[in-house]
Amino acid sequence: MGSPTRDTPQSTSRLSFDAFVKGILARDRTVLSRAITLVESQLPSDRQLAEQLVDEILPHTGKSIRIGITGIPGVGKSTFIEAFGKHLTALGKRLAVLAIDPSSQKTKGSILGDKTRMNDLSKDDNAFIRPTSAGESLGGVANYTREAILLCEAAGFDVIIVETVGVGQSESQVRNMVDFFLLLMLGGAGDELQGIKKGIMEMADGIVITKADGDNLKRSTQAQSDFKHALHLFQPPESGWTTKVLISSAIEHRGIDETWSMIEDFRSFTLRNGFLESQRDDQNKTWFHSSINNLLRSEIFNHKSIQQKIKEMEQKIESGEIHPGAAARLVVNDFLNLMAS
Ligand code: GDP
Repeated sequence: MGSPTRDTPQSTSRLSFDAFVKGILARDRTVLSRAITLVESQLPSDRQLAEQLVDEILPHTGKSIRIGITGIPGVGKSTFIEAFGKHLTALGKRLAVLAIDPSSQKTKGSILGDKTRMNDLSKDDNAFIRPTSAGESLGGVANYTREAILLCEAAGFDVIIVETVGVGQSESQVRNMVDFFLLLMLGGAGDELQGIKKGIMEMADGIVITKADGDNLKRSTQAQSDFKHALHLFQPPESGWTTKVLISSAIEHRGIDETWSMIEDFRSFTLRNGFLESQRDDQNKTWFHSSINNLLRSEIFNHKSIQQKIKEMEQKIESGEIHPGAAARLVVNDFLNLMAS
């Protein structure tokens, strides 16, 4: 990635389990940063330590409000999060931002890291900004980001933002790990939906139209009413909450406190009607199920004789001797037989 922020660790050397636990609970940001590196690791020995660590700190988690923020590149995410974050830290909140960079392993390019982002916020002692590359994770971004959220909570952060670029696959995964999902949109950019899929709009608990200043103000107000109408056509959200559409200018500091009030209202509303808790329960179940999937998959694909069988089947599929579904069943049957013997 580009220039690392101060929360991006330079050292990958391992701490002891106790040092990790003590450091995190003592709110030591260097230790927190290293712990996040640990949960991102693909090494089996690191995975084991990471799982033990998350288990150990679990009693200290769950108290934050978890916010997902998404929007296309250029919509103003980093400028908005910086203004929003400064507002929160001025209120005495401690904020962690986990920014998911959809850089691909192929190009080694980076959307988030190319420029200096959230400069002011990254100097704030009550803010922790951590970019992570989605390209490094086999099971997608979901697994380690969930663990990173828990680590940040144990380190005393009371607002956690998970930022994604609204162009990839990660949005629905992020929707599945946060309490409130915020979509940033531009007003008056021609096509009102700007390539943001209807599905992403449907996931949103709030939409903020960015850059509502200068010549853009009128267009933003118009877009606000267009989006409100568009939302009426969707199924009402399960939470019972009515999705809000706000306008904001990060540069003129407008709409920032309203955004926070909206999220606080959402939190009280869903605390009262039980949705906040039931959504987290459901998210934990999804996490559990996808972990089973991932573990099984890696057990199968890492098994030496199964790797051989897979190669054999690939050749047979290519020569038309067997179809992929039947070949998969043979591979899994072989694996089950190996396990039973
Ligand atoms: P990101 O790619 O979504 O993180 O977008 P950035 O935060 O980097 O912003 C993209 C561009 O929009 C930058 O040139 C910003 O200066 C500009 N920008 C961001 N927020 C505002 C705003 O509130 N008003 C105006 N006029 N420009 C903004």
